[in-house]
Amino acid sequence: MNMQSKNGLLLIKLLTLNSLLVLCASQDFDFFYFVQQWPGSYCDTKQGCCYPKIGKPASDFGIHGLWPNRNDGSYPSNCDSSNPFDSSKISDLMRQMQSDWPTLSCPSNDGLTFWGHEWDKHGTCSESILDQHGYFSTALNLETEIDILKALQNAGIQPNGQTYSLSSIKDAIKGASGYNPWIQCNKDESGNSQLYQIYLCVDSSASGFIECPVFPHGSCGSSIEFPSF
Ligand code: 5GP
Ligand code: 5GP
Repeated sequence: MNMQSKNGLLLIKLLTLNSLLVLCASQDFDFFYFVQQWPGSYCDTKQGCCYPKIGKPASDFGIHGLWPNRNDGSYPSNCDSSNPFDSSKISDLMRQMQSDWPTLSCPSNDGLTFWGHEWDKHGTCSESILDQHGYFSTALNLETEIDILKALQNAGIQPNGQTYSLSSIKDAIKGASGYNPWIQCNKDESGNSQLYQIYLCVDSSASGFIECPVFPHGSCGSSIEFPSF
């Protein structure tokens, strides 16, 4: 092989290695968790909650976040401090953010801190797929695709402070959405386990729901309370 073709081969090898490195660096996750919270269970704890400045949110599940995750259960976080949350990039989504992604943390605020935290911690790790506007609009669209409260109510599971079996809750969501959810519980003021968050999975290009490749750890107990809000 002459010198010129040797150099050519080396260049091709370097370019291939480079593009592999770029691919790895730009997408360090395998799927997303789409996490929704029951406001009644965020509030019904020892620390309580505060309603946003515009008033009490609807009695419905709200978005917590869209979280890039790896198949081995680990996840990247805070991936790009050079691209901080900028609310002017989602000004057209504000009305929907306030209704579908309300904050319940104290002191009472308008939600920008919660949304900024979610972008900075999770959104920056999928910025190769979704820019800031895309990240929030994708989550808002996912929220409208599956009506979890309706699925539960159709199965006779109401937010009325009563206790329901974990399996009936999972079956109702699977029946309506086609996908197995993961349920996270927290504790009310008296220490009872209650329905706090619902996890569903989304493919790595954020184009739709998939079965979860892996579930987080933790357990609820076989019967859980569904508090009112
Ligand atoms: P907690 O410890 O309350 O379950 O979670 C605290 C925060 O850690 C969550 O709000 C979320 O930001 C992050 N987190 C917890 N578990 C997971 C997980 O399994 N995947 C991802 N991507 N983030 C998680
Ligand atoms: P994570 O790191 O768990 O994704 O995000 C939770 C952070 O967002 C916490 O610092 C929490 O105080 C804040 N936060 C603000 N509003 C809410 C809310 O309505 N629900 C939850 N789960 N966290 C909120």
